[in-house]
Amino acid sequence: MAAKILDGKTMSEELKSNIARRVAAMREKGVIPGLAVILAGDDPASEIYVRNKGKGCEEVGMFSRTIRMGADVSQEELEAEIQRLNEDPAIHGILVQLPLPGHLNEEAALSRILPEKDVDGFHLINAGRLMTGAEGVIPCTPKGVLHMIRATGEPLSGKEAVVIGRSNIVGKPMAMLLLRENCTVTVCHSRTRNLAEHTRRADILVAAVGKARFVTADMVKPGAIVIDVGINRVDGKVCGDVDFDAVRERAGWITPVPGGVGKMTIAMLLANTADAAERTLRHA
Ligand code: NAD
Repeated sequence: MAAKILDGKTMSEELKSNIARRVAAMREKGVIPGLAVILAGDDPASEIYVRNKGKGCEEVGMFSRTIRMGADVSQEELEAEIQRLNEDPAIHGILVQLPLPGHLNEEAALSRILPEKDVDGFHLINAGRLMTGAEGVIPCTPKGVLHMIRATGEPLSGKEAVVIGRSNIVGKPMAMLLLRENCTVTVCHSRTRNLAEHTRRADILVAAVGKARFVTADMVKPGAIVIDVGINRVDGKVCGDVDFDAVRERAGWITPVPGGVGKMTIAMLLANTADAAERTLRHA
């Protein structure tokens, strides 16, 4: 039987309606949640992501500001802009669109963002909080993936979870979140030997590799929950890291690309910004 589809479009619309209600309540108290996005350089994919983030803000009634900086911006100029946004009470969330032009130090820039305004959850403080189980900002993509996994209604405790990819923005925080759910977690990466032996054990398989149709049906346990984080372009069309048509015949649940995790990432960015704005209201 073909896998059930975890529909990111519908799920993200539900999340956004809920966020829009929260924003309306804050507006009544005189606070308009604000997101600032810094875009350095002219990467075409980043342009699209930034535009979609702005559109998302508009949909839920938030305010957004895009700060464009040239590809030759200096580290000092970038960090000075972050500092201005840290001090701006109209801005509750700050996001530096990655990747930054090669001459800039990403980690140094991210660590300038106030942890409370770090709506991407990439600041070392937030990474540490996730690691230790303290409350903090959770990176948007893994947070969205966990929401989708929970939507299956299957109990997660004790499940075998395999994450392919160990990046700081997807793979590692994903592994931490699944560990928090009491899964037994394996993280696979480019040096993993016999990858399929690991993936075939997975009740939950998350692919965050960046290689088109990398996960094939023979790598998947029958009935597994398969989450495809990948965004790849092949012949001008977007596809994921999972060979969707074949894996769909074997998995229990699967996310499509497009229309899967990507939609959830934006919804979680809005959720993190709403959380940040609510925190300022609580502390006002
Ligand atoms: P990355 O390049 O930083 O990491 C890729 C990971 O894949 C690495 O940890 C590497 O070890 C692993 N890998 C590479 N080759 C492998 C192999 N042969 N076997 C096993 N592991 C291998 O990428 P990232 O930033 O984590 O993103 C991964 C993918 O997810 C990309 O396609 C990216 O565009 C996409 N992405 C999507 C969203 C979204 O919202 N849907 C968000 C972030 C990233």
